[in-house]
Amino acid sequence: MKFTVDPNRCVGCEACNGIAPEVFEFPAGISQVKLDPVPETLQKSALAAEENCPASAISHQA
Ligand code: SF4
Repeated sequence: MKFTVDPNRCVGCEACNGIAPEVFEFPAGISQVKLDPVPETLQKSALAAEENCPASAISHQA
């Protein structure tokens, strides 16, 4: 599964990093996906981060 962060939507709250630190990082104040694709073992936490993003900045493709 592939995850992306829309840099125009992300407000840098770091909530996604709190939920899925293995998947998201903050090299320049906004979230970026570290793993492409995200391995199956981390998909559940990545989806939880997507659901909880206050800016709806995270999306995924199967
Ligand atoms: S939870 Fe959403 S708004 Fe917050 S840092 Fe992550 S992608 Fe950006």
